[in-house]
Formats: sequence, structure tokens, C-alpha cells
Amino acid sequence: MPFVRVALDVPLDRLFDYAVEAVTAADVGRRVVVPFGSRSLVGIVMAVADAPEDAGVAIKPVDAILEDMPALPADTLALLRFCADYYQHPIGQVVHTALPSRFRDIAPFHVAEALRYVATDAAALAAAIPARAVMQHRLVAMLAVPRSEAELRRVSGTAWKTVQAWMADGSVAVTRHEAAPIGDIVGLTLNADQTAAVQSIGSGKGFGAHLLQGITGSGKTEVYLQAIAAVLAAGKQALVLVPEINLTPQLEGRFRSRFPMVELAALHSSVADGERAAAWVKAARGEARIVLGTRLAVFTPMPALGLVIVDEEHDASYKQQDGLRYSARDMAVARAKRADVPVVLGSATPSLESWHNAAQGRYRHDYLRLRATPGAKPPAWRLIGTRHAPMTDGLHPMTVGAIAERLARCEQTLIFLNRRGYAPVMHCSECGWLAACTRCSARLTVHLREGRLRCHHCGWEERLPPRCPGCGNADVKPVGQGTQRLEDVLAARFPHACVMRIDRDSTRRKGSFEAALKAIHDGRVDILVGTQMLAKGHDFPKLTLVVVTGADSGLYSADYRAAERLFAQLAQVAGRAGRAEHPGEVLVQTDFPEHPLYQALLADDYDAFAQRELDERQLAGFPPILHQAVLRAEAAKLEEAVTFLRKASSLAPNVEGVTVWDPVPATMTRLANRERAQVLVQSHSRPRLQSMLAAWMLAMRQERAGKIRWSLDVDPLEL
Ligand SMILES: [Zn+2]
Ligand SMILES: [Zn+2]
Repeated sequence: MPFVRVALDVPLDRLFDYAVEAVTAADVGRRVVVPFGSRSLVGIVMAVADAPEDAGVAIKPVDAILEDMPALPADTLALLRFCADYYQHPIGQVVHTALPSRFRDIAPFHVAEALRYVATDAAALAAAIPARAVMQHRLVAMLAVPRSEAELRRVSGTAWKTVQAWMADGSVAVTRHEAAPIGDIVGLTLNADQTAAVQSIGSGKGFGAHLLQGITGSGKTEVYLQAIAAVLAAGKQALVLVPEINLTPQLEGRFRSRFPMVELAALHSSVADGERAAAWVKAARGEARIVLGTRLAVFTPMPALGLVIVDEEHDASYKQQDGLRYSARDMAVARAKRADVPVVLGSATPSLESWHNAAQGRYRHDYLRLRATPGAKPPAWRLIGTRHAPMTDGLHPMTVGAIAERLARCEQTLIFLNRRGYAPVMHCSECGWLAACTRCSARLTVHLREGRLRCHHCGWEERLPPRCPGCGNADVKPVGQGTQRLEDVLAARFPHACVMRIDRDSTRRKGSFEAALKAIHDGRVDILVGTQMLAKGHDFPKLTLVVVTGADSGLYSADYRAAERLFAQLAQVAGRAGRAEHPGEVLVQTDFPEHPLYQALLADDYDAFAQRELDERQLAGFPPILHQAVLRAEAAKLEEAVTFLRKASSLAPNVEGVTVWDPVPATMTRLANRERAQVLVQSHSRPRLQSMLAAWMLAMRQERAGKIRWSLDVDPLEL
């Protein structure tokens, strides 16, 4: 009796053998239902074998092989294996993470196949039709290539009946999986930079990684669309990854309207489970020729993949922060390499990893330096020194003046402050007490209107104390500024203006964010106060002034990536200011106007900033100059976590060129009543780091962790 090796969603890094009556190689990649302990689980067949791996162990039979989902093809299985090895994560969990959640359900799932129709001999059929039957001749002309029922029905009210008659006499045949023509695609006229970029990407022949670096308004999306058009014309599929927050209905609409004849599979979190599974099936069958999705879409099987695009490739949301801690950007590059197709990484502010790869010549560096709209100007930056300046409620007189000017011209202002709540600190001036979270090593944020103190890390909240719990002093004060306080300040300063705040608190209700965006669009808002929620992807035609405040904390942070993140964030928020007819201005209130980061923003020179950051990381020994992994552990007591990590470190194999540091408490040691510590591992050699991690994790999985929760994060974004 043959056996199947099955990947199951369990935290053990192995496959499980089951016996099966009859099985062929075509069943590899299929869903199976198998008994596991007292449960029935859905698994994926990874291999077919003549003998079980462990002789002498009782092997249970498979309950059922399901044929509802297209089998995961060999290239997808290989990518998932690579992912499991790279991130040292159990293969079964990797496979199940990559599948739409609907397929973890035992119930079968059916998606009707999209059939297409084609004339068996178009010339013969045309000759048999009377010359005056115009509609029939038009149909025959169309049927020279495979067409969908919907396309044919559009020709006339009786067209479908005619086609059915031709099918009955064999003049028209049904076909499957054949790429339909994409229709006439009319793109925008490209400028010289865009043309060069599209040409360098080519049309899906051979691997090549392209870093497409261009500021807001330089027309990156148009480059994507025209590169995709070339790939579709060659009969292939395109995979487009976008950060969750950027995948707006407008962007999806732009893709759909450019390629009306092409089926597009949208794969993101606001698509319902069943719909998502159906879109995935269509992509896997080759029917959907464009896959537009977030992080997880990178694993979608696509039999005719011709191009991979990662938009806003620097965005942190490409890295999953729990479970399988993978980077969709890095997997996209790995996937393109295996499929031997081009991959485009687009950004105004590339990650230092990608920028370094381009500087080293591993990626081709394509710049979009020109604005796509002729005459459009980049926003003008102004740095306002706030040290020793006469500030009122956190606003400089120049800032107040600039806002007043916009109000007089009926234009909008956005004030960017990436800190929600009323104030970040509640402080007693008598005894120095600060409101702290009892569950985390963090301060509580003041939410004055609700009369609450909230922890933004664990969600804990309590009533605002009327007096200091330390000394009884009644004069406890909120210190510092959050978006709520800034909103109050502006409303008091400009009583006739409509001030609106947009942050996670103000948009909690479903639909409220969309309603707010509409109000801004319609010009019903004069002054916007917002966090990074507003920084991305939204175009407001009347917004001409962006004020940045509270950004200095990113300049001297202990986190070596803070400056990179800050630059990206400010470049993005600046992109909201100004359109062709209204030039924009960006004011940055800062104590450090001479700081090189601000100077690079002022000069619109990301490369200067990136080179300087890279030099610093070279000196300090940080990625991307070297490679890191971090083993994290959490326990009720810090000592337990550290003891566990010390034991773990003793299991680490000694590999030359790989450094294992001593266990240390995490930057935020206490989170939601758990104490956290970590061990950092680093190496200049990726292969050595990988082989060391593989041997280490093998040893670790033999150990009992007890109540300690631990995880390995390869290429961590945060330490
Ligand atoms: Zn006190
Ligand atoms: Zn907390």
C-alpha cells in the first residue's frame, strides 16, 4: 500500500505518514483529511512514498483526498520549503499559513471553472455564413481566439444562442486555462525615466531585481501598469504586492479599468474568506491573470507567473510579526528568482537592505526623477527651529501664520503628529510620580475626553486619578502633546475653522475613516490633525500645507532603524502637500534643524541619507552590512526567561563567524504581564548563519520549554 507524507498545522517540524488505497504523483499538493489524535485535520500532501519514514510505527489511513482545490504546484511547495528552512519554522505551519483560511476547513469548496470558447476553424466557419449576416461575422472574428461567455453575450441578444448552435455542430469548441487576449490597452504617455524603467523591466523573460526609486508623483504606478501590460500580452500572469493600508478601492479600480478584459484576483484582509479562496483558486488555475494583494498573496500559486511587483517595498507591514515571521518582500524576490522572472521593488524611500543591494550591483537601480505630471513641483520644505523659540501650545508663531494664510485662501492644512491620545505622560510635579502601566514597562497615555489613562501596548485602561496616588497632590498634569490636545489647541486658536482629527481613536467606528476622507475631499475640513494613518496613499487636492511636529524623537532613538523609518514617514506625509495647480509646503518644527536627516529631506536627496546611514551601520555593525536573528523568550518572571535563554545559548553550536550574544532583557521588558528577554545572533555570512540556526533549532526542539514561550525571528525588524 502506498503512503503520503502530509503537512499538518501543528508545531512539530516534520511531516506525518498516512496510508492510502491509491495515489498518484498528481495528488502531491492536494488537501487531505487525516486522523490526528482524536481529531480530524486538514493537511497537504507533500510527497508520495512506497514506505513510511519510521518503520514499525502504526500508520493510520487517510480519511479522504479532497480534489476541490487545485493541487499546490511543485514550485509553490518548493517556495514553502525554502521559507520554512529560511525562517526555521515548522513546514506544516508554513504550508497552512500560506493557504487561504477557508482551506483549513474540512468542508469541500467548489469554484466553477471559467470556460472559454474558440472556433475550431474560423476561416471555414466564416465561409459558411452568408455575407449579410453581420453579427455572425463579428462573432466568428472574435472566436478566432478563446472568449468567455460574458464577452460573447455582449455582441448581441442572440449571440450566445448562435454560439451554442455552433458548438452543437462542432464549429466552436470549449477550452480551459487559455489566456484570453487582453484587449487594446491605452496607457498614459511615459516620460523618459518611466520609459527607461519599463524597458529595463522587460516582459517577463529571465530573473532580474529592479529597485524602482521615485518620489510621490513620479508615476511609479504607471510604470507597473505598462510593465504588466507587456507581461499580459505575452500570455503571462503578474503578481502585485501592496501594503494593507495602500490597497485602496481606488488603486484596485485603477488596475481593473486599465485591464477590463483581464480577471483580477484581489487578496487582502477585507475580502471575505470564501471570496478570497475563490480568487486564489482562479489565480492557481491561471484564470486570474493579475493577483493584487497584501503580504500573504506572495504564496499564491500562479502557473504562468511573468512578473512580480512589490510596491512601497520598505513598508514594515511586509514583515509578519508573529507565527511565521516572514518578509513578503524577501519571499517575493526569492520567488521571482526561482521562477526566473523579473521582480520590481518600488519605493520613494527604499529600505536600506534593497538600497544596499542596488549599490552593490545585485539589483538594477532605476530612478524616476521626473514628475509624471508636467509642471508639477515638489513641495518646498522649511525647517523651523523650536529651541528657545516663543512657542504657544507647541506651535511656533510661523506655523500659526502659515496655517492662517491657508485658511484665508480656503486651502487645507495637515498637522502630522504620530502620537495619539491627549498627552503621553501624566505627571505629579510635587513627588515626581508618573502614571505607568502595571502590566508593561510603559507609561500610560492620557485620554482626557474619556477621563481615562490607557496603555497603548496592552490595552489596559483606568480612570484618570483626581489626585496623585503617590502624595495626594491635586495638581497632577498631562505633560506633552498628543493628537487630541493638538486638536483642542487648534480649535481654540482658529475658532472659525473646521478642525478634524484622524487617528486610531477617532476612526474606531466602521466606516468612519472613509467618511472622514470624503469630508476632506469635499473641502469640508480646514485643518487636519493626524497620525501616520493619513500619511499614505490619499490625495487631497486642496491640501497645500503639511506641518510636522514631534518627529525629533526618531532622530536619536536606540532603535537603529528609527531614522530610516522617520525619513520614509516624512517623505510620505510631505507627498500629501500640493498638486500641479497648488504648490505645497512642508514645515518641520524641530529642535535640531541642522540634523542631516532633515537636511537630506530638504534637498530631496534620499541617496545622501541612505549612504550616510549605511556608513553608520558599517561602523556599528548592523544590518544590512551583517545578518541577524533573535531568539525571544517570555515568562512570568524575567529571571525565568533569562535562565531559559542561557540554557538555549548553551545548545547553540559553535560556528565560526557566527556570534551569539548574552541574553538581555528586551527593550520593552514587561508587556501584558509577561517579562521578555532575547538573545541576538549575528554573522556577516548568510550561509553560516543559516546552517547554525538550523542545527540550533533542531537541538532546541528536543528541549522542554515548560511555561516559557519562545520564538526565533530571522531578519528581525525590531530588537
Ligand atoms: Zn505626587
Ligand atoms: Zn500595558
